[in-house]
Amino acid sequence: MVAEVTQRIDQLDQSDVLAEFRGRFVSDASGINYLDGNSLGRLSHDARASILSAIDDEWGQELIRGWEHWTELSSQLGDVLGSELLGAEPGQVVVSDSTSVNLYKTILAALSLVPNRRVLLVDANDFPTDRYILEGIAAAHGLELRLMATAMNDPISVDDFAPYLDDDVALVVVSQVNYRSGALNDLARIAYTIHSVGGMLVADLSHSVGAVPIALDDDDVDFAVGCTYKYLNGGPGSPAFLYARARLQSELTQPIWGWFSALDQFQMGPRYEPAPGIARFLVGTPPVLQLQALKGALGVVCDAGIERLRSKSIAQTQLAIELFDDYLAPEGFRLASPREVAQRGGHLTFEHPDALAFSHALFVDHRVLVDYRVPDRIRFAPSPLYTSFAQVYEGVMALREVATR
Ligand SMILES: *Cc1c(COP(=O)(O)O)cnc(C)c1O
Repeated sequence: MVAEVTQRIDQLDQSDVLAEFRGRFVSDASGINYLDGNSLGRLSHDARASILSAIDDEWGQELIRGWEHWTELSSQLGDVLGSELLGAEPGQVVVSDSTSVNLYKTILAALSLVPNRRVLLVDANDFPTDRYILEGIAAAHGLELRLMATAMNDPISVDDFAPYLDDDVALVVVSQVNYRSGALNDLARIAYTIHSVGGMLVADLSHSVGAVPIALDDDDVDFAVGCTYKYLNGGPGSPAFLYARARLQSELTQPIWGWFSALDQFQMGPRYEPAPGIARFLVGTPPVLQLQALKGALGVVCDAGIERLRSKSIAQTQLAIELFDDYLAPEGFRLASPREVAQRGGHLTFEHPDALAFSHALFVDHRVLVDYRVPDRIRFAPSPLYTSFAQVYEGVMALREVATR
């Protein structure tokens, strides 16, 4: 049995069209089996070279003249992200600030388009910062926040929305992939549902960008935000992206009127006038070194291509689920992710009452790095750019070992 499995895994690795991409990442000295790329992606050689060159050649040599090209970075990278990974025509995406700050800006911008509506909606199982930012906005602006009860381990259904929808709903914030279960939501259906009552959709793509194909324009999403340090490997503190539908841009107001969002930044005029396009979502001086790191990192993802990434990711999570059924389910683990391929993103979640202790033991005894999420969840995230099929197998077998000792 074991011999058959390992033979099959050898074949999967041998026929892996993305296998060579492992060599594009800096390996750690202790040989960690890194299954946590959905939290912080690995360092690529290109990201490293790019940030070093930004330090030595640009900051070091160009000094302030660097701004002649640095000012363009936020929108250049936004357009690359848009065309390669988000299904967005140019002029709709910028890279700046954190996902949390971008949520704040997009939610208030959306509200500026529907000023008479008083209700904000969010999945009660969504990532904390998404809920907290909404809670803060509701408190500051005297609005009502409705927390939708959902089944965390399954995609959100149209029926889940029904009890919360009326013509007072301004917007809903939804994560495309749930961070604790990996459930993949259907943005097109959700956009249709919320539009049918005149509300807007703000999608959080933090756990989906670089893992699943995204079609923001075709799906009729109004606004989107997301992290670049997860599957995009931009590094800790890498700035987030923000998408705003072109046809909405000229009518909306975003709440932080920084000089980078002004019509003519270097006129230094007496009063604020917003830039015409997506640039009105910028705020202040961007983190140039991090933007340059992201530029390098993103090149690697684009070279692989989202279709190939998704198909390897599916093969890896499929393998992990088969191994889960054979080796982990008998030890009292529960799969807290959808079994249906079309309903899950790039990571899987295994539940067990001893999840916390197991995740520590996995690292100490096996050099397998996963992450733990309250209350009893282990997130198991192969990253198709640098995780082999053998590492998926080794990760599951290590977990079985710590659970059966
Ligand atoms: C990781 C993540 C964030 C993180 O937001 P930051 O502002 O970068 O800290 C936000 N939302 C979701 C859904 C995430 O998965």
